[in-house]
Amino acid sequence: MKMPAKFNTYCPYCRKHELHEVEKVKKGKTTGLHWINRQKSRRGKIGNMGKFSKVPGGDKPTKKINVRYRCTACKKAHLRAGYRLSKYELTE
Ligand SMILES: [Zn+2]
Repeated sequence: MKMPAKFNTYCPYCRKHELHEVEKVKKGKTTGLHWINRQKSRRGKIGNMGKFSKVPGGDKPTKKINVRYRCTACKKAHLRAGYRLSKYELTE
């Protein structure tokens, strides 16, 4: 889906429609401290890795995109519920 990089939409801070810039939210780095990661590393990389050998990894065909809408009037950003898209592009 192509999406304009700037468009007029409702700002909850100004309580009216203002021009908004679309920002992509960077995916947060995993710290590697989750239990599942430790369990995975404990199992090693050789041989049958049990439940980690499963193919496919359970990835969905589409990814939820995370975008932030920044109001050009008050410079505040707000979020909206993410939606699933296979491809996401910003157009000028
Ligand atoms: Zn605003």
